[in-house]
Amino acid sequence: MHRLTLAIALPALLAVAPVLAAPAERIIRGGPIVTVNPAQPAAEAVAIAGGKIVAVGTAADVMQHAGPATVVTDLAGKTLVPGFVDGHSHFMSLIDVQSQALCASPPMGPCNSVADVIAALEAEKQRRQLGPGKFVMGYGYDPELLAEKRPPSRQELDKAFPDNPVIIVHVSGHGGMLNSKALAAYGITAATPTPPGGVIGREPGSNEPSGLLFETAFLPIFAKTPGPEGDEALDLLAAGQDLYLRAGITTAQEGATMKPQLDLLRALADRGRLKLDVVALPFITEIDAVFAGQPPRNEPEYRNRLRIGGVKIVADGSPQGRTACFTQPYLTGGPDGQKDWRGELTFPQATLNDWFAKVYAGGATLFIHCNGDAAIDAVLAAHRAAAGDDPTKPRGTVGVHSQFIRRDQLEKYAAWKITPSFFTLHCFYFGDTHLANRGAAQADFISPMKSARGLGLRPANHTDFNVSPLDQIFTIHTAVNRVSRSGRTMGAAERVTPLEALEAITIDGARMYGEEARKGSIEAGKLADLVVLSANPLTVPPAEIEKIRVQETIKEGKTVWQRPAGDQAAGGGESLGFGGEDTPTRLAFPRPPARFPVAHDRP
Ligand SMILES: [Zn+2]
Repeated sequence: MHRLTLAIALPALLAVAPVLAAPAERIIRGGPIVTVNPAQPAAEAVAIAGGKIVAVGTAADVMQHAGPATVVTDLAGKTLVPGFVDGHSHFMSLIDVQSQALCASPPMGPCNSVADVIAALEAEKQRRQLGPGKFVMGYGYDPELLAEKRPPSRQELDKAFPDNPVIIVHVSGHGGMLNSKALAAYGITAATPTPPGGVIGREPGSNEPSGLLFETAFLPIFAKTPGPEGDEALDLLAAGQDLYLRAGITTAQEGATMKPQLDLLRALADRGRLKLDVVALPFITEIDAVFAGQPPRNEPEYRNRLRIGGVKIVADGSPQGRTACFTQPYLTGGPDGQKDWRGELTFPQATLNDWFAKVYAGGATLFIHCNGDAAIDAVLAAHRAAAGDDPTKPRGTVGVHSQFIRRDQLEKYAAWKITPSFFTLHCFYFGDTHLANRGAAQADFISPMKSARGLGLRPANHTDFNVSPLDQIFTIHTAVNRVSRSGRTMGAAERVTPLEALEAITIDGARMYGEEARKGSIEAGKLADLVVLSANPLTVPPAEIEKIRVQETIKEGKTVWQRPAGDQAAGGGESLGFGGEDTPTRLAFPRPPARFPVAHDRP
C-alpha cells in the first residue's frame, strides 16, 4: 500500500517541481507573443527568472510560475517578439554620429545641396568649437541626392574652412571628400600614386588630387578617423548605445574593429557600461595585434557583454558609390568619371586567398564584405582555395551584404554553407540609384532573400549603421515590400513574408553568430532578450509595417530602454537626453514619418 502511494505521488511532484524551484521574477502577458519558434509559434505569456526564459505558453500555465515577488508586465495589446540580433553594423559609428556633421539627404538628413553640406559642417564646427587646425568631420553625403549631383569640391571646402582640415565621408563609408588641409595632413599630393583597389580623384588635365578618395586610398583615414578619444569616446559610446536599444537590438555588431577601438570597447565593457551584447569583428589588418601573433579565434563567451565573434575582411566597395566590383561595367561610369568602369577588388585575389587561409586555419568566423558579382566570384575562389578539399565543411563564413549576388553564386553559397547577411534597406534607400547604375535585371535581384531561403540558406539582414539609420523595423518592411524611394518595386519575386523577415533579424542573426542555442527566439532556456512592439508585424497590412514602433527593449529580463511618452520617431536621439537642444537634428538620423508609396500586390 505504501509503495503504491509513492508511485502515484511521484509524477505529481515532478510536474510541479519547476514552480517550487524557481518562482519567476517577471511574467509578461496581455498581448500577442511571436516566438519565432516553429514548434510553438504563438503564446499567451512568458515567465523569466535569472535572466532566462523559464516558461512559454498559455497564461494559465505560465502564471503557475508566479511567486509573491513576481512582477507581471501587461502588454496591453502590444506585441512581444525576440530581441533583435544585428546582422551587421558599426557600433563604433556611435562616436561619429555624435561628433560629426550629418551631411545626408532626406529622409536620412537635412542636406539637399552643396551649400547645405557646408552649412552642416559649419554648424558642427561651431557646436564643437573647433579652432584652427582641428579636423571638421561630416558623414553620410550622397552626391546622387544633392542638387548639384556632386559633393562639395575641395576648393569650396577650402573657401569655407580655410583654417581647418575637413573630411566628409560618403554615405557608403567607403570614401569621401577632403579639403587641401586634410589632403596635406595625410600627405596626399600630385606625386601620390593611386594605390591598387583605390581611387584618388584628380583635377581635370592634371595629377593634382581633387580631394575625392575611395577604398584603399581612403583606408588610412578610415583606420584612424580624427575624433573624440579616451573618456570622451567612452561617454559617447555609453550614451549612444540607446540608439541600438531604441531599435530593439539586444545583440549588436561592431563590424570592422581596429585595435584601438577594440581597446576602447573592452574598457567600456569592463567598466560595466554596456547594456546590450556587442560582437566585435577585428579587421583583418589588425589581427596580429589583436591576437598577439596567435591564430585568430572567436571568444565563445561574452565578458561583460563583449566578445570577439570573428574577423572582418573587405573584398570590394559599395554599389551606390560605384566601387563595388562587377563582371559587367556600370551603366553610369565610375566615381571619378571613369569609362567602362566595373569597380575593383579592394585587395588582390592572392591577398584574399592568404587572409582566408589565415582565418580558416585559426577557426575564427570569417565575415567577408562583398557587393558586386566579381567580388563574390573572388570570395568564392578564396574560399575554395583556403578550404582545400573540404569546401562544404560548415565554417560559419558570412558574406556581408552579398547584394548583387548571381543565382549561380547563391547556389555555391548554399553548397558551401556561406551565409548571406543581406541589406534589403537598399531597396528603399538606393533602389533608384541601382536601377540607373546596374539596370533592372540586377537591381531587381538585389539582396535576394526569397531565393536564398529557397536554397535552404537562412540569411540575416542589416542596417550597416551608420550607412543607414538603426531601424530594424524598416529592415522587416523593406524585406517584405521591396519598394524604392520613388515607389518602384525592386523585384517582387524576392519579397519574403513578415515572419521570414522577422526571422532574419532574430533567429537567423543568432545562427549567424553561432548563438541560436541562447538567443533568437522565445523559448524556455534561452536568454530573456525581448522587444515590445506597438503592433504585430505578422498581422498589420505589409505596407504599414514601417509604422510599428519599438516600445520597450528587454535584455536578460531587465528593461533597458522604454519609449518616452509622446515620442513617435523610428530612430534618432530625441529622447537620449544628451547633447542639449541641438541633439534632435544631429542624432536624429531618423526615418521620417513621411509615407512612401507601397504596392499592395502581395498575394
Ligand atoms: Zn559595414
